[in-house]
Amino acid sequence: MLKVLSLLLRPIGTAFLVLSSLLVSADCVNAQQFKAAAGKVDITPVQPAFIAGYGNNRKSVDAHDRLFARCIVIERGSQRIALVSCDLIGVPRFEILNIRSMVNSVAAENVIIGATHTHSGPDTLGMWGPALTVSGVDKKWLIHTEKQIAELVDQTALNLEPAIARFASTSDVRGISKNIRVPAILDTQLAVVQFVTAVNPRTIATIVNYACHPEILNNHHITADFPHWLYETVETALGGTCVYFNGAQGGMVTAAYDVSTAPRGENWAAAEAIGKMLGTRTLEVLHDATAITDPELTIAKRKFHIPLENARYRTLIKMKVFSGAPDPDGTLETEVCRIGIGPAEFLTIPGEALPNVGFYIKRLMHGNPKFLLGLTNDFLGYILAPEDFGLELYSYESGQSAGSSLEPLMIQNDKLLLERSATETKPVH
Ligand SMILES: [Zn+2]
Repeated sequence: MLKVLSLLLRPIGTAFLVLSSLLVSADCVNAQQFKAAAGKVDITPVQPAFIAGYGNNRKSVDAHDRLFARCIVIERGSQRIALVSCDLIGVPRFEILNIRSMVNSVAAENVIIGATHTHSGPDTLGMWGPALTVSGVDKKWLIHTEKQIAELVDQTALNLEPAIARFASTSDVRGISKNIRVPAILDTQLAVVQFVTAVNPRTIATIVNYACHPEILNNHHITADFPHWLYETVETALGGTCVYFNGAQGGMVTAAYDVSTAPRGENWAAAEAIGKMLGTRTLEVLHDATAITDPELTIAKRKFHIPLENARYRTLIKMKVFSGAPDPDGTLETEVCRIGIGPAEFLTIPGEALPNVGFYIKRLMHGNPKFLLGLTNDFLGYILAPEDFGLELYSYESGQSAGSSLEPLMIQNDKLLLERSATETKPVH
């Protein structure tokens, strides 16, 4: 009798268990507020373009690989943020404001736009035209690209789905970058976040954050440089969209490779090897990733003004070689932004911070892992500590910087952001 009862109960019990587990997973999905989506759009110029990075008058003959704007939209509750990284030398603030003004799905100030800093993409600033006094920007391409990026954000936001975040970082990724100014000052941290669908796990996107100038190539072919092979390696292994954000790579963190193996600027094999190595290290570090279900999402930013001290830049603006213009008082508005995704912390840098500046900012940050998004939300040239500004060692970087007060003002605003004390209520001038 007991046996019969247990036989009768078994199917009922099993059915109950199955049903309850279904209810649990349905509950999880319903309770899961964190969502993510990703996409990319081809922004390669159709016409020959003046290539940005290195000298003037370097015109493209073709594209070795396509340049993309890569986008991740994340959402939790009423908070929605877009993170975009473009295969470009930099995206100046006035271009970012143009893009933001065309985005409908994400609040303008929550659209974060960075550049990988490839030295083999089209001029976005005006500095690399046929001569020093002639802009190299193809305005038609630029207007079209700004529209494409805004549409990419809106299209991506349509695909938001419940997701989890997997974070990983390692502080000792060597053999990829080197500091050619002060070799001992080198940030070898690789920080990675992978967004995976909450049900039927599938990679939506992988953000890779590592400091290194993509400047191996210097010829007449458009290319994303080493990030092209990083994307290929990560996307082939994981699927989804791989997004690369540079770090504090200014003065002068560049790729570590044997320069004797090919003529300078033509070392395609080195670019491939460096990109694949960074991709492989990304995949390795993700093995030990920490999965965070429904991570909290926060964003805070501070706008501030910096004096445009660089006389050459002021002249180039007057001559309309550089687009955009300072405010009537001679200052430029810029911004820093802090994003929290669960335990991880992201901080934007509006230009090319030197690695010692990057180390200092990371010491101020509390998250784990820490992501420093270089060349993001502005393109203000090198960002040097005042004590380094003007040194013979950094004469190049000092000449390619908005000015000596940029770093202290940025750090002041970083501190206020990191103390979570304000969101644009009391900008520091
Ligand atoms: Zn640079």
